[in-house]
Amino acid sequence: MPPPAKLSFALIGILVTSASLSSPAWATHAHVHGKAKLDVAVDGQILSVHLDSPLESLLGFEHTPNNAAQVQQAREMVAKLRNGSALFALPAAAACQLEQVSIETDALAPSLLDGGTQPPPPPPTGAKKEASKHDDLDADYIFRCAHPSALTGMEIQLFQYFPRLHQLKIQVAGPHGQNAATLSPAKTRLNW
Ligand SMILES: [Zn+2]
Repeated sequence: MPPPAKLSFALIGILVTSASLSSPAWATHAHVHGKAKLDVAVDGQILSVHLDSPLESLLGFEHTPNNAAQVQQAREMVAKLRNGSALFALPAAAACQLEQVSIETDALAPSLLDGGTQPPPPPPTGAKKEASKHDDLDADYIFRCAHPSALTGMEIQLFQYFPRLHQLKIQVAGPHGQNAATLSPAKTRLNW
């Protein structure tokens, strides 16, 4: 190996080492299994909810499905996630309608995520098996509420549908300003 190549390898080694030393331990992991984040915003009639979760905590694994059973598991997860009116129980008096759901994760094909009736994509041919990679899933929900003055909170049912989840860190931007909350299976009510 010629000296320049050796030098750059050594340099990369130093950079990687110093990067990992200077970062706090949590920064080296993309996420913590069981812990998800939720951003809630109320703006007039529009309620937006953004979920950012480890894919593992919703699906049980966090790689591209490699067989038919895993594709089916992914389909079931998507069906549950798309049912935003069940995941976020809003006061009936607010008369909210779920207008839009979008789901994104690198591990699953768009044809799986759109919840349509297209046939499942063929499992990948073993080329992309990244068992050690941590994948996240992002889900966005838009509700329109006819009577937003009645929209003072919601019951979060994510823990029932996704039992691997055990903590939700929530940020709310509501009509009375911002607040934060941490919910768990024992505490599922969010008020603002
Ligand atoms: Zn993970």
